[in-house]
Amino acid sequence: MSLLVIGSVAFDAIETPFGKTDKIIGGAATFIGLSASYSVKPVKLVAVVGEDFPQSDILLLEEHGVDVEGLQVKQGEKSFFWSGKYSRDLNSRETLVTELNVLADFDPIIPDSYQDCKYLMLGNLAPQVQRLVIQRLVNRPKLIVMDTMNFWMDIALEELIATIEMVDVLSINDEEARQLSGEYSLVKAAKKIMAMGPKFLIIKKGEHGALLFHKNKVFYAPALPLEEVFDPTGAGDTFAGGFIGHLAATDDISFENMKRAVIHGSAMASFCVEKFGTERLLNLTAEEVEAREALFAELVKVVPAAALANVPAV
Ligand code: AMP
Repeated sequence: MSLLVIGSVAFDAIETPFGKTDKIIGGAATFIGLSASYSVKPVKLVAVVGEDFPQSDILLLEEHGVDVEGLQVKQGEKSFFWSGKYSRDLNSRETLVTELNVLADFDPIIPDSYQDCKYLMLGNLAPQVQRLVIQRLVNRPKLIVMDTMNFWMDIALEELIATIEMVDVLSINDEEARQLSGEYSLVKAAKKIMAMGPKFLIIKKGEHGALLFHKNKVFYAPALPLEEVFDPTGAGDTFAGGFIGHLAATDDISFENMKRAVIHGSAMASFCVEKFGTERLLNLTAEEVEAREALFAELVKVVPAAALANVPAV
């Protein structure tokens, strides 16, 4: 099933307690596209970079099944640049630099060959640009998933709320859910946010997993306790790419299948954090992905005590 992804394609410079990178390839749509490509191909990309973006990195995306017809390369301009520094426990990060560059006046042009898309992933970008993409599609996709961040809550709240109203699934982290709703309890926050429009809400809690809300139902997926966490950058986007990739591949948007999509997204994100940037997402095998999903299933498999009480003793 065809999947269209928009979001930033960027240069990132990252500092973690384990090291520091110069400018490496990053961006929300990069992580989403690579992650989703393990479930569906092609992943149709709408994004913009400057002339400084290496052709070799564009080729790398293509090699992984990302269709770059919708990737604009702006001559004489610079790519989006983001830099962040993580705390010692990797649970919080400080944004050091956000240079919008080409993103400042990004006009998302949708190639005709993308118009048939059934699944739309709005990766992190200005909410007005995310909305333009929905408006420029002739037919509304079967499912629209949106990711965003506190940066847009701080500077474009009205635009953000107008875009949230139009999507089916919103994916944000716990801090952002609290900021957007003004509620500390995540259950109350979820109710308020779903009342803004989305029928489903995913609240990501970093190393504590993710929650999926729908009406009065809630599903929890843990994060895998990993021995080595190297760089959390892109984990949220990788999660989102895995989530929508699974839904697009199975073409089933029931709550039950969304639970499986959350597990798959969590498995993909657990790979992402093992190396700097996109490195770990470049060479995964289907067997590695399957084995990781099985570890997640094992992590939460238990027969409740009450059920055991009904089993006759032997
Ligand atoms: P995550 O760690 O999942 O929140 O995503 C990190 C990625 O988001 C990095 O690769 C950045 O390039 C990208 N990013 C950071 N800030 C923004 C922003 N304001 N708009 C779009 N992308 C961003």
